[in-house]
Amino acid sequence: MKHLLTLLLAALCLTASARDYTQYVNPLMGTQSEFALSAGNTYPAIALPWGMNFWTPQTGEMGDGWQYTYTAHQLRGFKQTHQPSPWINDYGQFAIMPMTGRPIADERERASWFSHKAETARPNYYQVYLADYDINAELTPTERACLFRFTFPEGKSYINVDAYDQGSHIRILSAERKIVGYTTRNNGGVGENFRNYFVLVFDHPFTYTATYAADAKDMPVSLDSLALTQTTYHAGAIVGFDTRRGEKVHVRVASSFISEAQAETNLTELGTADFETLRQRGTDRWNEVLGRIDVEGGCVTESEDDLRTFYSCLYRSLLFPRMFWERDATGHVHHYSPYNGRVCDGYLYTDTGFWDTFRCLFPLLDLVYPSESLKMQEGLLNAYRESGFFPEWASPGHRPCMVGNNSAAVLADAFVKGIRVSDTKTLMEGLLHATHAVHPEVKSTGRIGYEHYNALGYIPCDIGIKESAARTLEYCFDDWCVLQVAEALGQPRDTLRTLRERALNYRHLFRPDYRLMSGRRADGTFADDFSPLKWGGDFTEGNAWHYTWSVFHDPQGLIDLMGGKHNFTAMLDSLFTLPPLYDDSYYGFPIHEIREMTVMNMGNYAHGNQPVQHAIYLYDWAGEPWKAQYWLREVMRRMYAPTPDGYCGDEDNGQTSAWYVWSALGLYPVCPASTHYAIGSPAFRHATLHLENGHDITIETAGGAKHAPYIQHMTLDGKAWDANYLDHFTLTRGATLHYDMSTTPNTQRGTSAKAAPYSFSR
Ligand code: CA
Repeated sequence: MKHLLTLLLAALCLTASARDYTQYVNPLMGTQSEFALSAGNTYPAIALPWGMNFWTPQTGEMGDGWQYTYTAHQLRGFKQTHQPSPWINDYGQFAIMPMTGRPIADERERASWFSHKAETARPNYYQVYLADYDINAELTPTERACLFRFTFPEGKSYINVDAYDQGSHIRILSAERKIVGYTTRNNGGVGENFRNYFVLVFDHPFTYTATYAADAKDMPVSLDSLALTQTTYHAGAIVGFDTRRGEKVHVRVASSFISEAQAETNLTELGTADFETLRQRGTDRWNEVLGRIDVEGGCVTESEDDLRTFYSCLYRSLLFPRMFWERDATGHVHHYSPYNGRVCDGYLYTDTGFWDTFRCLFPLLDLVYPSESLKMQEGLLNAYRESGFFPEWASPGHRPCMVGNNSAAVLADAFVKGIRVSDTKTLMEGLLHATHAVHPEVKSTGRIGYEHYNALGYIPCDIGIKESAARTLEYCFDDWCVLQVAEALGQPRDTLRTLRERALNYRHLFRPDYRLMSGRRADGTFADDFSPLKWGGDFTEGNAWHYTWSVFHDPQGLIDLMGGKHNFTAMLDSLFTLPPLYDDSYYGFPIHEIREMTVMNMGNYAHGNQPVQHAIYLYDWAGEPWKAQYWLREVMRRMYAPTPDGYCGDEDNGQTSAWYVWSALGLYPVCPASTHYAIGSPAFRHATLHLENGHDITIETAGGAKHAPYIQHMTLDGKAWDANYLDHFTLTRGATLHYDMSTTPNTQRGTSAKAAPYSFSR
């Protein structure tokens, strides 16, 4: 009887504690990538949500941005990584590699064969069998620390801690079974004093110790017993154990960007918990954040792959920007500032490029994870205080990459959605400052060319500033974003008038003869040799066909420029019917983003890069929402899969993943900092968003199926809803959406002018 009761209680707990969402996550999605062709350019980020340190198995050489490639056969180590993208590369990295037989320092010599069939990758757990050494390696991280468990065979066993080249240091403290050290490795965006301090504590005494070092590049590392006393070019350490077959050696690892003492404090995240306890805690944390969006009954492929793709994409949406802050022994939040080299109070987050992530990643955080977003927003204010600018591409400090002043969109979206930083005066000051300033060293921070933009309304294409049309279109939208905050904070009438005028600056670049955006010369004329298929040049990693739609805040204004809805939808249709022709003369070769467009067989629609990712939703403004519904499902089905080649281009720090999350829910924030979400084609039969304010958004579809992407009819809280958008605040008060889906389009629904989502000029 007692036994029965226990069973019954266990069954009850199981139903109450809901699903294990982590089982659907494939951290290897997107890892089958290389320089020439990206299927995501991701690596398995074994981490907690937004964790300060990620861990990855490493197949690539030290310094190679492609640190884990699915097609590789050998692993060189398990690497603490902070890399947002192979193009930006890593900083503060070091690696741990177990081995048997003899101690080996060199990363090529020590590499071991492995198989994906003897590998397990989960968000917070990684396991692999290292064939050359007969070792089972496992790791499970916390936000700033990690526990390793190595199961060794009988004999001489070793663990190599490689602090990497370009400046590192290491010490073995045998009595304490400890290794401490630091790496200075980085790719820019830090002060001269940058260090990642690490500490490793072993649960076995050492029977062997050695350090290795090289004083200069290309010098081979050699083992000796020298005590290293200062920073050298490349330092490492190897400790050994005599093990029985099946003996487990545990290594507790933590690190800090602040100090060795802080690294010891961060080690307390592990406490005295054993491996299984830590793993379970991490899984619970992932389930807590993944479970905020509960979906069932996928209609994209009508298989469990829909759940796998959805939760793999949601996992990728909850990694960046990562915490760059730490807690001291009293719990006080502080961070090493990559901007001024000092230890400063408060939050800081990093490793994201806003050119990518302003579009839909941050709006997802603002809707579903607003308490996390608030910390990120406070961190942005700290970056401004410490450097004079909000970052545009941070890793960890300002990096010269991409275009636009899209920090304005990230900040304004949070502000408009009610996520309020404590110091709105500094927020306003920072937003306005960037409209007439550029960072003295990192020219992609602030606004390069602002003098021309502010005087003429656009950056001319013939004054030596590259990608002038892309910059103009983004500054224009960014001005509209600044305007939203400025209006709410009661800025002077002149300021508001200026911002309102600038929010229409996109009009200056519209060429009626092509119905496309184009570069424009300082004298006001357009170039005669305009090439609509030319990537780069006046645009950024895209062509006029991709960038013309970058009027996020005023699609109706763009419709008017094109001469009405009929012309507008004809242009949108052409994106898909144009063959995948391209002009690569600006780059001199087809950059990987071009290749990714051509191989996907969807015309000139280039979902593998960010500029065009919102374009399909613009049918909602033009009274033909069924075309959006059709193409959105096509993209979900043809361009995403929960497999190593599962993305159709760079994933880019959650942006391309968040697109799927939004789109599968049938919503998309085309215009961040507005409260309207465009309605797409909901792709799950049941979806529930559990909001932090305690309310739920429930999405139900009837008749949802692979071949039924069309909305026949929908209701909001039981009443018919004919618009092509839903308002943020309607949803966050708690809402039930019911959709009747169909295999044929309802060409009467959502066609009126009233049905269109927000446009500034309306
Ligand atoms: Ca990209």
